[in-house]
Amino acid sequence: MLSKLPHTGDSIFSVMTRLANEHGALNLAQGFPDFDPDEKLQHLVTQAMSERKNQYAPMPGLPALSEQIALKTQRCYGFLPDANTEITVTAGATQALFTAIMALVHTGDEVILIDPAYDAYAPAVQLAGGIPVRVAMRYENLAFHFDWDAVEKALSPKTKLLLLNHPNNPAGTILQANDVARLHQIMEKSPLLLLSDEVYEHMVFDGKSFLSVLRYGHLRNRSMVVSSFGKTYHSTGWKIGYVVAPSALQQEFRKVHQFNVFSVNTPMQQAYADFLMSDRSEEKLPAFYEQKRDLFLSHLSKTPFRFIPTASTYFQLADFSEIIQQKDMDFVVDMVKNKGISLIPVSPFFDGEIAHRLVRFCFAKSDALLTQAGEKLCQIYA
Ligand code: GLN
Repeated sequence: MLSKLPHTGDSIFSVMTRLANEHGALNLAQGFPDFDPDEKLQHLVTQAMSERKNQYAPMPGLPALSEQIALKTQRCYGFLPDANTEITVTAGATQALFTAIMALVHTGDEVILIDPAYDAYAPAVQLAGGIPVRVAMRYENLAFHFDWDAVEKALSPKTKLLLLNHPNNPAGTILQANDVARLHQIMEKSPLLLLSDEVYEHMVFDGKSFLSVLRYGHLRNRSMVVSSFGKTYHSTGWKIGYVVAPSALQQEFRKVHQFNVFSVNTPMQQAYADFLMSDRSEEKLPAFYEQKRDLFLSHLSKTPFRFIPTASTYFQLADFSEIIQQKDMDFVVDMVKNKGISLIPVSPFFDGEIAHRLVRFCFAKSDALLTQAGEKLCQIYA
């Protein structure tokens, strides 16, 4: 057979952006801001180029950037990783996740994925010769909750890795203290490794704090934690992220990293290194996105969509079952073609049939666009 991924098509995010463009619809589908990174950060990129920072960076990342990442990790999570041995800069979180899976998963290893799961995970596990084991979150009162009993049931002698995404895309679920305790119990029971996708780490709302795996010595010493500058600094197109992990895991990660990207583009690494010396904008991110969430929800609450305000990320889930009894894919195709708004269906984040009828709105948009989309939804449905 030619294809190694016979059941994989274009990602739902590309599909819905393409349809939004074809139909001139407002794009609340794919997750990216419609505003730019800080001008100072943009300027630092061109400055780095003019200062001749245009050749290969060292394979694990520019030392100045790794140093800043280490300091930021200490500031945010009270843990200072070794900048040389415990941090690798990557071409976005997607590459970090793919590389980690390639480095750690052997043929026949099982990898537990928690649904809703980001679309990049299962194909990477399959390409590594691993077996994705899908465990769904509990869906109750319009919210998804971690189901640790189900995770525990899925453990087997073949379990190699647990892939955790928190804050969760698309559900907005975050780890609470009792989740951390259960996760710890599971890691004591099984020798599995943890791959923690924390790209929305700085978008946690309503005064809650984010319980990064990096805060806990007994978790982080068996974990690879993935972050993305794209989310935090409104720069998804720059594709820079990083992974923090103990040096033994980093050594394995770097063996693969050096042969699939070798090193990440130098001017942007230099720009982030300079910017992070004084920037503290992540502290303002919760309030920034909470205001956008609330603006959008002030409109959505006048429609028959049912939701509870998302706890994190720049995504809001909403149940459309009071509008129509239809599959989520059919609903979003009708919305983008006939109603002028592009959304993401939730079924692609699950394996197999789902019982709920949910769509995902991205609110990383200008207030003007959120108001326009909100008013449009009210005109159609209110
Ligand atoms: N992670 C983004 C989302 O959830 C999309 C990124 C992509 O298109 N690969 O919308």
